[in-house]
Amino acid sequence: MSHSRFLNSSDLTKFDGGDGSNLADLAHGLLNQQKETWPVLRKGYDALASLRTRQFPIDGTHVVLQFNPARIASSTAKVDDATIRARKCFLCIDHLPPEQRGLMFEHDFVVLCNPFPIFPEHFTIARIQHTPQRILANFPAMLDLARALRSRYSVFYNGPKCGASAPDHMHFQAYTRGQLPVEKNYDKMIAAHGKRLIDSDLRLTAVSSSILRILSLESSDPEPIVRGFEHVYRSLGQFVPTDPEPMLNVLTTHDGEKWRVLVFPRLKHRPSFYFAEGDERILLSPATVELGGECSVPLEHDFNKLDVHHLLQMYQEVLIDPETLDELTQQLV
Ligand SMILES: [Zn+2]
Repeated sequence: MSHSRFLNSSDLTKFDGGDGSNLADLAHGLLNQQKETWPVLRKGYDALASLRTRQFPIDGTHVVLQFNPARIASSTAKVDDATIRARKCFLCIDHLPPEQRGLMFEHDFVVLCNPFPIFPEHFTIARIQHTPQRILANFPAMLDLARALRSRYSVFYNGPKCGASAPDHMHFQAYTRGQLPVEKNYDKMIAAHGKRLIDSDLRLTAVSSSILRILSLESSDPEPIVRGFEHVYRSLGQFVPTDPEPMLNVLTTHDGEKWRVLVFPRLKHRPSFYFAEGDERILLSPATVELGGECSVPLEHDFNKLDVHHLLQMYQEVLIDPETLDELTQQLV
């Protein structure tokens, strides 16, 4: 492992990385440094500035559709075991492009800039060690990370069969907080579709709308939220596929006082139109970002063709259904 891979606060002062006392400023500095020194990344951000989008208002929230040709690799990523075994892991430190630099976080994670961004600031936070993508053991680290990134960035997790393009190497992603419709419309969504299940040191709320079926966990204390998450995780195992873990996506933010963790329980990896033949096919492969209301498609004809019915169909097929969410919530209280 080459130590010049890792930048520290003195390297990042001139890139607006703050005084080195917090990870959020350092990550911002890392991104500025990488834009200056890594052409592929700079190109990714340049492309992002000129993307076309469409907006679909649905049931008190909205979904943004982005035409993003650079996402072709991740939208069509093969994540079966044989493909994964045959490729060189792109999150292992020794395989990173020569220009790529990172920041250490608590000895076992490295903060990296995502060269194919879909947000104004977009990071991948990978474990140093090549270990499989799993949430349960890494959930406390996710809370630490969200708090360390302050209110500037949100952190998300895609399960190994729920959109992670490196199911063999544990990683989170982080982006400019508040960018996703599910964050922007959170209060409205809770008021209209939320059902409070627990309101103590942990606040647990189920949301069931025409697009989303999710659980929200909130607390200012890490212990109840870790306990609550473990309870959700274990209960989920009875209702969704569990190989190699219950299918889910997770979005975590910390606002300076408390954590908010959104759990998206899933039944499927991809909607049926993804596998359709010919003109019926649409390359839309949902992970946390898409479920949170920002969908990107790499093909222009998909961008033009896609309508609100496709979106509703996607949410209906890949997320847990309302009846199952009800059964699940009965187990949680
Ligand atoms: Zn790896």
